[in-house]
Amino acid sequence: MRKKKNSSTVVVLSLLAMIIVGVVYLFNSETFEQKAPQIVIENGSYWNLKTPLKLKMQDTSGIQEYRVVIQTSKGQKELTASKLVTPSKEITLEVQSPRSAYAVKDKEVKIIVEARDASKWNFGNGNLARKEFSFTVDKHRPQVSVVANSYKISKGGSAVVVFKAKDENLDKVYIKTNFGKVFHVTPFYKDGYYIALLAWPVQEKNFRADIFVSDLAGNSVKAYVPLYLKNRSYKVSYLKISDKFLKGKIADLASMFDETAGVDDPIEQFKIINETVRAKNEKLIHEITSKVPTQRVDSFKIHRMYPLKNAKVVASFGDHRIYYYKGQRISESYHMGLDLASKAMADIRPQNGGKVVFADFNGLYGNMPIIHHGLGLYTLYGHCSSLLVSQGDEVRPKQVIARTGKSGYAMGDHLHFGVLVQGIEVRPQEWMDKRWIKLNVTKVIKLAKDMIDKDQ
Ligand SMILES: [Zn+2]
Repeated sequence: MRKKKNSSTVVVLSLLAMIIVGVVYLFNSETFEQKAPQIVIENGSYWNLKTPLKLKMQDTSGIQEYRVVIQTSKGQKELTASKLVTPSKEITLEVQSPRSAYAVKDKEVKIIVEARDASKWNFGNGNLARKEFSFTVDKHRPQVSVVANSYKISKGGSAVVVFKAKDENLDKVYIKTNFGKVFHVTPFYKDGYYIALLAWPVQEKNFRADIFVSDLAGNSVKAYVPLYLKNRSYKVSYLKISDKFLKGKIADLASMFDETAGVDDPIEQFKIINETVRAKNEKLIHEITSKVPTQRVDSFKIHRMYPLKNAKVVASFGDHRIYYYKGQRISESYHMGLDLASKAMADIRPQNGGKVVFADFNGLYGNMPIIHHGLGLYTLYGHCSSLLVSQGDEVRPKQVIARTGKSGYAMGDHLHFGVLVQGIEVRPQEWMDKRWIKLNVTKVIKLAKDMIDKDQ
């Protein structure tokens, strides 16, 4: 008897335990979840009443029904509503305002969203969420107009543009080209004005730049920068690689780089150095020289560049070099600077002051300082034998910053002089020409300032 009583207690206890487990399970299961749906509108707090609002609703048991309403001074109007046959855990909607809303003069409108989930909680009624979103109405498109720009841009060359961009809720201002490059702009001289240097890369067939301005409410405009395009052809050289060159300079370089470790074939070594190592070195240069000031600048003065006294040009900018070995085309590269040579270990004195943003060894470029002269204009000095400045230094015009040499990928003592605009190599010859600077930069900036003064 005693034994039987014991076993029935066990049955009752285990039944109780099962009920508790079951109830706990149900309470924790999605079927009975107690969290109301989450409602988010991804647009900010400004709205032009035209851009669709991105509405997102999420719930663990699934959204069962929802309703979206706009509230203006004219009253409420339902924008969309739905009862779902199958509940959905995530719903993304693009909500459009009704045409009638365009006409309202309200400074603020509200969007009210109600959503109910598919939970069996609340005696089967589910959890209800209601959320109100307030938007400041801004239907005005930003103002944009070009104030002054260089008359032309040459393939491989530079240009400057000054423009006006105004909006009470200004968000983004930038310049984008036909080949996808985004040029950053710098606030210039007075409130609402911007300046940017532009560059047409040697490898690009065409050039077109548009200024894009948008505000927080989703209004946007673009304006074309009216530059006359001047095509320029660059030299293509077919160069034969000799065994002497492979056994000398290339073997030397190959022993220096990680990329050529374990590679014994001299042709393979040359290809890795000319392509992989070069790409890595250029990537670093482009990263360093992509930055522009974000603080307002009042002027931009640049002297004719002339880094090496009594120098001879030994290789020009933009050369497309195609390399052959025993009649086979094996590699190619572009020469992105101007090679200048005078005597060995000659003083390098830039004519313009600026900030040293890099001063170190950079692979094929050897010992290499880079100086920022403002507005995203940089100069680079490759193959130096010694560096006389450090990163972070401010240099004065005509200060000796380094001495020429043959470090990196250089056969004789020379200076590889590079000029970059926001990470793009440009023709140094333009910046070495007093007339070009006056006509294309100095005069344009002077004219822009005169126009801005009149505009105030
Ligand atoms: Zn060079």
